[in-house]
Amino acid sequence: MPEASVAARGLGRAVIFLGPPGAGKGTQARQIAETYGVPHLSTGDMFREHVGRGTALGLRAKPIMERGELVPDDLVLSMIEDRISRPDCNEGFILDGFPRTLPQAGALDEILRRRFETEPLVVHFVVDQNQLMRRLTGRRTCKIGGEIYNVYDHPPKVPGRCDRDGGELVQRPDDREDVITERLTAYERQTRPLVDYYRSRGVLKDVNGMASPEAVTKSVLELLGQK
Ligand code: AMP
Repeated sequence: MPEASVAARGLGRAVIFLGPPGAGKGTQARQIAETYGVPHLSTGDMFREHVGRGTALGLRAKPIMERGELVPDDLVLSMIEDRISRPDCNEGFILDGFPRTLPQAGALDEILRRRFETEPLVVHFVVDQNQLMRRLTGRRTCKIGGEIYNVYDHPPKVPGRCDRDGGELVQRPDDREDVITERLTAYERQTRPLVDYYRSRGVLKDVNGMASPEAVTKSVLELLGQK
């Protein structure tokens, strides 16, 4: 495995995983971040942590997330800017679920210009709309390590338990059908325009998100290895 040399190199830039909810961004981001030894920054995970801890930010975000809407840009931006400024992000990082609006993308450009010489790479996960509902309603997450399963397509060996650490598998409260519909609408309206925003700058690469998780990981690693 060439993973040691890959990890030693880091990514050297920000890599943005873009795609609708259920496209596989979280699963892939965990895998690729581990391979490269860089942080995986998921704004959704950060908000869920705030909600779990009952912080002021969590209390504001909770009802918005429960409706499947987007948290206001200023709240997202102060949280992510603080995280990106930490030294463990010096060798690059993977953004999963951020940016999600054009103002967020503009603010991220500013942050990255100060930090990296290289443009970010945007990996766009292309998935059929009709697959997303199945993936999201079937999703279960390990309470301990955050490992992601799908009861239909990638079930755990023991129902309800994580293969890795035996942790309880839980369903996200926003993975209910009515909330999912709202989240997909928010994606189409507010996030989809980012595809053109980055494509027109020549920094976006499409990946077929319908392939097996292993095949998708391989495609993403190939993209990251290209100059
Ligand atoms: P995710 O885990 O990425 O699906 O995010 C879960 C929820 O967190 C979203 O439905 C939003 O309510 C909120 N959220 C996460 N990231 C962002 C973001 N970049 N901008 C606004 N809201 C976000």
